[in-house]
Amino acid sequence: MFKAVLIEKDDAGYRAAVKELDEAALPEGDVGVRVEYSSLNYKDGLAITGRGAVVRKFPMVAGIDLVGTVESSAHPGVAVGDKVILNGWGTSEVHWGGLAQRARVRGEWLVPLPAAFTPRQAMAIGTAGYTAMLCVMALERHGVVPQRGEVLVTGASGGVGSVAIALLSRLGFTVVASTGRPQEADYLRELGATTIIDRSELGLPGRALGKERWAGVVDTVGSHTLANACATTLYRGTVAACGLAQGLDFPASVAPFILRGVTLVGIDCVMAPREERIEAWSRLARDLDVHKLERMTREIGLGEVVDTAAALLDGQERGRIVVDVD
Ligand code: NDP
Repeated sequence: MFKAVLIEKDDAGYRAAVKELDEAALPEGDVGVRVEYSSLNYKDGLAITGRGAVVRKFPMVAGIDLVGTVESSAHPGVAVGDKVILNGWGTSEVHWGGLAQRARVRGEWLVPLPAAFTPRQAMAIGTAGYTAMLCVMALERHGVVPQRGEVLVTGASGGVGSVAIALLSRLGFTVVASTGRPQEADYLRELGATTIIDRSELGLPGRALGKERWAGVVDTVGSHTLANACATTLYRGTVAACGLAQGLDFPASVAPFILRGVTLVGIDCVMAPREERIEAWSRLARDLDVHKLERMTREIGLGEVVDTAAALLDGQERGRIVVDVD
């Protein structure tokens, strides 16, 4: 038997709770993992509270990421005893996820835990941090360099935002943090932001084009914020869009793209190819200051996950939440 956060939906309604499950109930897969840590991301919040249509099969074990030790393997590239990380690949959507003491998954979904990180650090980074790295890599691929000017990070106090600020400042960028929480200004400066702006500056309906300011943008909130970020990006600048905390809509015009050659890059971490994941994790090992990581991380147990998931969606959590599943 093992403990897990189980999401159920039936005549009694939509609910999530810690349950004892039988290992025989684990889904099909060629690798068994003893999970050590998972984490809480925005998408976990949506899945656990039912406020977003994330889960497509019930009952579902929550958790879009995990780190742990391989206990059994029929996969040629994965051996018993390996320390492995899993992000995405449909976990907590159609396959049981990582907010559990045990998981059974497919070997090709796993990447090795980089030697630079402890298991706890890997999940302090978690899906949010790995996505922040994918955003930074996208900006770099499109020629965004510190000499070009300021970079904007929206949803700055959140998980993706906090890691993005730490990474970009370490890489020499001048980082502007957009937040709805002015009380977090000191925290954001400690992570490496040089300027803090209020989220209302970008969050309301705006013009098709505004004054050019950003060489690059990491946007975690979508909606008007993403539209305004594109409208105020420098000629040939790049915007990496990964989130929807403000909304799934994109009320924009094509003006920034056809008049300023702005590039809008979509970031999806769930189905990203394995090579890109391995590159992202090795870049995190090189470019993320682990002291800043610790500063942005809070640890909880499985029993606190359900309440914390709601608080996360309500904007009451900051940075990263790592979950010790034991
Ligand atoms: P968090 O909840 O940790 O961070 C979200 C942040 O967005 C909040 O801290 C807050 O920052 C800001 N925010 C919240 N509500 C609003 C609002 N109504 N308007 C404007 N800003 C708001 O979430 P994560 O960091 O885990 O994820 C961030 C986003 O990225 C989510 O939408 C998530 O779904 C998405 N995501 C996408 C991935 C992908 O593969 N594309 C992978 C990982 C995440 P502040 O208080 O500073 O304003």
